[in-house]
Amino acid sequence: MDLATEKGASSWLTTRPIEDLGFALHKGAFKDALALRYGWHPTRAPSNCTCGVTFTVEHALSCPRGGFPILRHNELRDVTASLLTEVCHEVSIEPNLQPITGESFNGASAITQDGARLDVSMCGFWGGRHQKTFCDVRVFNPHAPSNRAPNMATTYRKHEREKKNTYEQRVLQIEHASFTPLVFSASGGFGNSASTFYKRLASLLATKRNEVYSQTMACLRCRISFALLRSSIRCIRGARSHRGAAARPVPPAQLSPVMEPEKATKFRFQEEQKTLLTQYWERGMQCCSKSVSAMIDECAIAAKCSVEQVKVRPEEE
Ligand SMILES: [Zn+2]
Repeated sequence: MDLATEKGASSWLTTRPIEDLGFALHKGAFKDALALRYGWHPTRAPSNCTCGVTFTVEHALSCPRGGFPILRHNELRDVTASLLTEVCHEVSIEPNLQPITGESFNGASAITQDGARLDVSMCGFWGGRHQKTFCDVRVFNPHAPSNRAPNMATTYRKHEREKKNTYEQRVLQIEHASFTPLVFSASGGFGNSASTFYKRLASLLATKRNEVYSQTMACLRCRISFALLRSSIRCIRGARSHRGAAARPVPPAQLSPVMEPEKATKFRFQEEQKTLLTQYWERGMQCCSKSVSAMIDECAIAAKCSVEQVKVRPEEE
């Protein structure tokens, strides 16, 4: 619930579905968006990811197969750059940093390689017309164990600090520019620096377009919110094809059964389901040729319940 109550995380839910602005979702995407928001398992998701790991939302948001985390990062970079072109000069995507010629930095994690690039640069954002700013985007998976801090603010600060340790000194000393890390959670929240950055951007856009600041800010939040949401849905539903081989639809036997989320939490096994599950468990224990995960999948289909419920033996429920 912490993720759902973050500022910006509900922008997609409270906006009107205006198709021209890309704010409309089809029914499947809407259900997935609700599942992501409330931490439900998406309906009819495959039991296993194409990389072989058991399919979970936590895994899907980070799995590199299909390149979806990179696409999510690039989506945020491109949305930001396109908005910046309205109000800044010299907006550049993936600008190269100047090579290092003998300069040294304090931190061990500062980047020193030639050919280092940041995500976006522009002039006239902070400070005067010729003042340059570099930004670097990170979208993290809030469900990943490494991001489970006591509160989200700590996680945002951790990622911002990592970005600053890597790039800030080099940008300040060599480029004589400023650096802003743009950290987002895949669930739709912003880090502190990103929040300040987009407030400034909304203020510049509102002046330029002669709009009310609060409306421009709301619209900007929606653009970011939908970019993150669509990218997260793509991580769950996108076809993770291999080079030279298109992905095929997942056969029904490998899909988790359709479960209404509210029923899933109150689920109690019916008598015939209990019998069926017990039979499956006993057969599974004796049958060595069949993998346990295949047996669990088959059992979930037969008993019309979720894979997670099958993993709990009926008598243990
Ligand atoms: Zn995977």
